[in-house]
Amino acid sequence: MKYYSTNKQAPLATLEETVIKGLAGDKGLYMPERIPSLSKDIISKMKHMSFHEIACTVAQAFFGEDIEPDVLDKIVKDTLSFDTPVVHVEDNIYSLELFHGPTLAFKDVGARFMARLLGYFIKKQGLKEVNVLVATSGDTGSAVANGFLGVEGIHVYVLYPKGKVSPIQECQFTTLGQNITALEIDGTFDDCQALVKSAFMDSELNGHMKLTSANSINVARFLPQSFYYFNAYAQLDRAGKANELVVSVPSGNFGNITAGLFAHRMGLPVKRFIAANNRNDVFLEYLNTGKYNPRPSVATIANAMDVGDPSNFARILDLFGIYGDPHKAICGLISGYRFTDEEIASTMKRVYNDCGYLLDPHGACGFQALVQNALDANETGVFLETAHPAKFKGTVDSILASDIEIPAKLQAFMKGKKQSIELNKDFAGFKAYLMAQ
Ligand SMILES: *Cc1c(COP(=O)(O)O)cnc(C)c1O
Repeated sequence: MKYYSTNKQAPLATLEETVIKGLAGDKGLYMPERIPSLSKDIISKMKHMSFHEIACTVAQAFFGEDIEPDVLDKIVKDTLSFDTPVVHVEDNIYSLELFHGPTLAFKDVGARFMARLLGYFIKKQGLKEVNVLVATSGDTGSAVANGFLGVEGIHVYVLYPKGKVSPIQECQFTTLGQNITALEIDGTFDDCQALVKSAFMDSELNGHMKLTSANSINVARFLPQSFYYFNAYAQLDRAGKANELVVSVPSGNFGNITAGLFAHRMGLPVKRFIAANNRNDVFLEYLNTGKYNPRPSVATIANAMDVGDPSNFARILDLFGIYGDPHKAICGLISGYRFTDEEIASTMKRVYNDCGYLLDPHGACGFQALVQNALDANETGVFLETAHPAKFKGTVDSILASDIEIPAKLQAFMKGKKQSIELNKDFAGFKAYLMAQ
């Protein structure tokens, strides 16, 4: 399978080139030339399959032409050492819990898959060292750093906005050492993302070191996220609840929902999607007006969604480019909601008190969007619970007046010593630092 750039100015690339490069030469995002479809028969059989079998079926459809079946099977197996259970919350609303991985957030899936696939390609090509640059608003950094920790031939630089990630998030990528370097940037997440993008475009820097990205712009990171949409379907199908599925995705860079849209295009029976946003609502505005106006992000209590210019928007537009009126087609499948910090907090309180279910601030947006969307009786709503509430313990405890337990996996990180390098947000300083490596 070949991959093209959303900007259509770069040559087609193989999977190997796509994964190693990350972003296309024309600054576009890579898209598979064709989206394979899974038959109704296969999809209806998924209720009898394990998560591993489901994921292998989906992975095979996308990557089967390019990777030997046993290698792919091993990569999938090593990626998914945990499950993504669907849990009932209230009425016809279910939580797809994506926080059972090593860093307790959904990004573990994509990060672990990408680390293994990239490691495999590097070895195959006999490359010396590849440097992964990753900008994070919190959860990406921890998932990527842990997914890539100790992978031979790869060095990871995590760029994060100083003072804007929670201490629990911070310790998950600043305490690892080995092949992981944390860069503390005096700026916002968008500044971090801009630095990474500039680095990829700088020919001198690219001559000095081989660079790639592990943000959800990388195909190997966002596509594997489609695995758990199928897994959610299988579980709800088993319970006889999968006929009219409405899927609500707390969204920031829109990689997660894009993977869901890919699953849908592959044949997954989802009636419609909801993109749930915090106050960073450029996508909602696009749905309402047809105009996309990126702007600086604002800080919220759902900080992994503080994104003012979602990078995967280009993929969504491209995906619907086959329709005469893409905006109309997008509005036909996806609706949007936005929530203020106060609304997020009151949702968390109500659900905790009424249902005994602990939502994190991101999942709360997904949940509340389903409530406000007023599902009809035949519909089943499922929201993606994207992180464990303990990752945002300070926020969660102050809202719920609770003292939630920190899972052992997280406590282990907190015992480590923070190591980071402080840089400001101008590109010259960042480049000089990398040139010296
Ligand atoms: C990254 C993240 C999101 C947003 O996901 P995107 O793929 O960027 O839209 C939502 N919730 C949590 C907890 C996250 O870490």
